[in-house]
Amino acid sequence: MSRLVLHIDMDAFFAAIEQSDHPEWKGKAVIVGADPKGGRGRGVVSTCSYEARVHGVRSAMPVSKAYALCPHAVYVYPRGSRYAEVSRQIMRLLGTYSPDIQQLSVDEAFLDITSTQRLFGGAEALAHKIKADILATTRLTCSIGIAPNKFIAKIASDLRKPDGLVIVSAGEEQRFLAPLEISRLWGVGPKTRPVMLRLGIKTIGDLTRFSCDALIKRLGPSGLHFWRLANGLDERPVVEEAEAKSISRETTFEVDCGDEEVLRATLFYLCDDLCYDMRRHDLTGRTVTLKIRLEDFSTFTRSITLKQPTHSSEELFQHVRKLFMAFDRQGQRVRLIGAALSNLQQGEAQMELFAGNDDRKDKLDRVMDDVRKKFGASAIQRASVLKNRRDSQWIREP
Ligand SMILES: [Mg+2]
Repeated sequence: MSRLVLHIDMDAFFAAIEQSDHPEWKGKAVIVGADPKGGRGRGVVSTCSYEARVHGVRSAMPVSKAYALCPHAVYVYPRGSRYAEVSRQIMRLLGTYSPDIQQLSVDEAFLDITSTQRLFGGAEALAHKIKADILATTRLTCSIGIAPNKFIAKIASDLRKPDGLVIVSAGEEQRFLAPLEISRLWGVGPKTRPVMLRLGIKTIGDLTRFSCDALIKRLGPSGLHFWRLANGLDERPVVEEAEAKSISRETTFEVDCGDEEVLRATLFYLCDDLCYDMRRHDLTGRTVTLKIRLEDFSTFTRSITLKQPTHSSEELFQHVRKLFMAFDRQGQRVRLIGAALSNLQQGEAQMELFAGNDDRKDKLDRVMDDVRKKFGASAIQRASVLKNRRDSQWIREP
């Protein structure tokens, strides 16, 4: 029996939340991201409402370009914790439709509904029920794709946005895929695309005219991967891939920064913000990563893996600071700086074992978390951060 996989993707998620929280912004172009500074802003657009997309604004576009296209838009800073809160509501709700759920990002997930769809009157009825449920709970719309596998379900959810529903039944896979552009295949990037075009492959259907062997000969081992996808074959199960995830924070400076003290304070702020999120989600991480982009745009990451997982702001900061001090910037100033924790684990059980070592740090974290819970995240900032916040400004990128 063939599987039934559902892919759900929220429509313009961050922007839609802002419009829902600020009804006066409904129907307006809303751009979530860096401050445009009247066209001189240096960060990027995170998400924009459909009203802004009409003007050509897109995610990941420099905010200065967005401003040139759409100066009258409402520009807002991302409110990460609010988006995470709505995301948790949605994921909790999705979990009531199937135990087999795989969250891809803050606003996207796969559900394997092979065995549960009947309880809800079939796949289409289930999709409508999920949409209605999400709308009632969050006042937001989503798009859903349903197909015999993950690859096709994800393409399907993207085809009729916003508020779309596309169902591809077993046996229809090839007919559905054939007219789509080759760039829809996972893994077709700037390197592979020209090679495919030279072979006369513009659509997924064009690719299925080649035998598997012929593709491997021309494209190497990835030929097999493309042949399988193009023919609608994808057996990957819907499972949570916890080890692949990471949590990160980064920031672009208003003006390239060479001041060690400002850089260190910024790193502390990012580490603290990141660890606050980790603690609220009851996560710990073992691999610490520092990310740096220099004034010439060259970008570097440096990582170390710890013996024990952590979610202590102070501990993460100490490791990131060491990586930072060991990094040779060759006199260049810093354009962007960030920190990440990966190799994540759920649950605090292991932490308790080592709590004795670092009781003070742990207590400090907990006190700060309590204050934040009561008064909101901006209520508390450690002294070193506050001090530098006055003389330097930064924009948070999501
Ligand atoms: Mg989305």
